[in-house]
Amino acid sequence: KDADVPIESLDQLSLKSYPLCMRMCHESLRKTHHLKHSGRLQYGLFLKGIGVSLEDSLRFWREEMTKNMEVDKFDKSYAYGIRYNYGKEGSRTNWTPWSCAKIISTAPGAQDVAGCPFKLWDSIELKSKLTSFGLNPMAVQDVVSYASKGHFQLACGRYFESVHETRLDEGVNHPNGYFENSQIIMG
Ligand code: SF4
Repeated sequence: KDADVPIESLDQLSLKSYPLCMRMCHESLRKTHHLKHSGRLQYGLFLKGIGVSLEDSLRFWREEMTKNMEVDKFDKSYAYGIRYNYGKEGSRTNWTPWSCAKIISTAPGAQDVAGCPFKLWDSIELKSKLTSFGLNPMAVQDVVSYASKGHFQLACGRYFESVHETRLDEGVNHPNGYFENSQIIMG
């Protein structure tokens, strides 16, 4: 793995190189200072996969979540889960970041920001979100059309093409693969 990704760059990366599922988690965390269980797993493992170190992950989640809770509570109730993701607790498994298949099959509970937005959001919500991101109307139309037919990974690929103004000759299979492809293109 290359050099660690600094957490100071995550806001910028979320705009340029995150797939929508992770951008949604990042934005929600920044806005509400919290993510529920599935969201913390989905996003936490993605961050590990892109190269955020355990120490930086702890700092990132702590800084954000303690805007709404005591540091003590964070350390007692949430730091464990982050160390766990990095294989430092419990069974000490070095957990793999979630694939698209896993994320698409996730059925998040109420208020749990997780899963694949191309599956979870209806056409109106998706269209308005993508338009607010500045995607061109043709691309928005294509993405919404794929998503409404259940082709979530093709919708994601079309989204990637539009954001990066490039062609992607395959669908998206993994959010971390999406990120890596993006970083190659962004140089
Ligand atoms: Fe995330 Fe995969 Fe859905 Fe894209 S297709 S938003 S990478 S789960």
